[in-house]
Amino acid sequence: MAVDSTLPSPLGAPVCEKDAKALQFIEEMTMNVDSVQEKVLGEILSRNAETEYLKRFQLSGVTDRETFKSKIPVVTYEDLQPDIQRIADGDKSPILSAHPISEFLTSSGTSAGERKLMPTIHEELDRRQLLYSLLMPVMNLYVPELDKGKGLYFLFVKAETKTPGGLVARPVLTSYYKSDHFKTRPYDPFNVYTSPNEAILCVDSFQSMYTQMLCGLIMREDVLRVGAVFASGLLRAIRFLQINWKQLAHDIETGTLNPKVTDVSIRECMNKMLKPNPELAEFITKECSEENWECIITRIWPNTKYLDVIVTGAMAQYIPTLEYYSGGLPMACTMYASSECYFGLNLKPMCKPSEVSYTIMPNMAYFEFLPHESSVSDLSRDSPPRLVDLPDVEVGKEYELIVTTYAGLCRYRVGDILRVTGFHNAAPQFRFIRRKNVLLSIESDKTDEAELQKAIENASVLLKEFNTSVVEYTSYADTKVIPGHYVIYWELLVKDSANAPTDEVLNQCCLQMEESLNSVYRQSRVADNSIGPLEIRVVKNGTFEELMDYAISRDASINQYKVSRCVSFTPIMELLDARVVSKHFSPALPHWTPATSSVKAHTA
Ligand code: AMP
Repeated sequence: MAVDSTLPSPLGAPVCEKDAKALQFIEEMTMNVDSVQEKVLGEILSRNAETEYLKRFQLSGVTDRETFKSKIPVVTYEDLQPDIQRIADGDKSPILSAHPISEFLTSSGTSAGERKLMPTIHEELDRRQLLYSLLMPVMNLYVPELDKGKGLYFLFVKAETKTPGGLVARPVLTSYYKSDHFKTRPYDPFNVYTSPNEAILCVDSFQSMYTQMLCGLIMREDVLRVGAVFASGLLRAIRFLQINWKQLAHDIETGTLNPKVTDVSIRECMNKMLKPNPELAEFITKECSEENWECIITRIWPNTKYLDVIVTGAMAQYIPTLEYYSGGLPMACTMYASSECYFGLNLKPMCKPSEVSYTIMPNMAYFEFLPHESSVSDLSRDSPPRLVDLPDVEVGKEYELIVTTYAGLCRYRVGDILRVTGFHNAAPQFRFIRRKNVLLSIESDKTDEAELQKAIENASVLLKEFNTSVVEYTSYADTKVIPGHYVIYWELLVKDSANAPTDEVLNQCCLQMEESLNSVYRQSRVADNSIGPLEIRVVKNGTFEELMDYAISRDASINQYKVSRCVSFTPIMELLDARVVSKHFSPALPHWTPATSSVKAHTA
């Protein structure tokens, strides 16, 4: 369709023909939510009519919504696990999808301690690419002249493995960065990165980060936006600069590359870029050697207009630290996505983090919403839950997101709780409220109550020979220092004070807890260094009783009072910290190898 780029879109005035087309596309999608959704479901059900999964529920080629809703159950990952395991083991018959499964995407959500494996098909890359292509046209409405410079984005790939049947298993962003969609993307003046592909694609996180930071420093004057996928990633980059600025400044001064960067393609590419620049090296030395790192981002990259990082959901805990380092630059949360499916984008990316709403694009998948107040029993087979369609959600209500994807997930519970904040045309906009059942999170790790409980039980075994037990515990994600770490408060019952557990034993308890946590946690500790050693703080006897007294004084019912397994409320933290008698840290790294993270995923 011909688009007149001189005409402003209802979203704003596009800066070029390409943006005009993208904005027009957003308008079309958001105006026709219901018909697009109907078409998407029709396409998914007709192409997958012969799959084992749809045949199992006797859908027999019917594609209308009512039949679909009456016959297909709402499921969790655990329900699909036997089918997914067969695919992982090499069964190529059309189980979930008529299109061949091209790879598995390893979600940061876990099942039985291991990353969930999400089957995907090749064409999903196009759908993800389409959503990415809408982000800059929206941003250009709010921030002018982004074509006059570059983006310093810290982007990383992670280790990948193969399933027993030979399919690759890797995180969705690794899959995207390694695809031709990303590697051979056409030049777009509005979307130029300082990081070369060679650095982004290097699986060694030190070499990758080092090179990306070095390029960002060399091109400091060109940088107009600084970002990472999540806030935690950008803070890791700042921490990296704190630790490595001397070597970086040395490389810039001499025009040589740190010998620790051994990757051949990076060295080749950096040899072309590096020239001795003593003036820049001196500037970096001056800024970084100062004790005070407030506003370091704007001091080093003075033309930065905004930070591009997700600070919604669990990442909100990093907002104050990012504000400190950036002198309060706007933080743009541009999109909402997952391994299962990319969902949508923020049409007002420069709004305050607390006001971010994502508009789900109806062409990405078929979306349904389970009213959050629905109880678990509503999901029993005899009384099918009343799921609401995308256009019918109500402002102010909270829902759990359910997706039916082109790759073959049917009525799959993503686990995210969203609140409707309004509409753009007929498309609802959602605030991300939280992920269900997540107690602790530092970056992509998600630890739930059951996992924490199990970890405590495993660690307590070490206390047995000291006739000691854990009477009460709670936890908190300490992100004041980067990398953040888990803090577990323990109240102990030591029956024989002459034989109390030693420091050494309590340190080992920390490690034992880490060994018991899920593979995403352990990968972050071992491969990414993005989580620090777990800490146990032993509190004085009677502390948890004091906590109960405090809660009751604030209106909790004495009968219903339960120790909260995770705390963040300042007065409670202060009370706990004032009662600490000893602190212990994990003395070593827990076990983690890529192989245990996905291949063996569900053989247990
Ligand atoms: P993964 O499956 O590992 O890709 O993680 C996807 C999950 O990350 C989503 O289901 C959300 O819980 C979370 N997530 C993704 N994007 C956002 C966002 N913009 N704001 C808050 N949480 C997000």
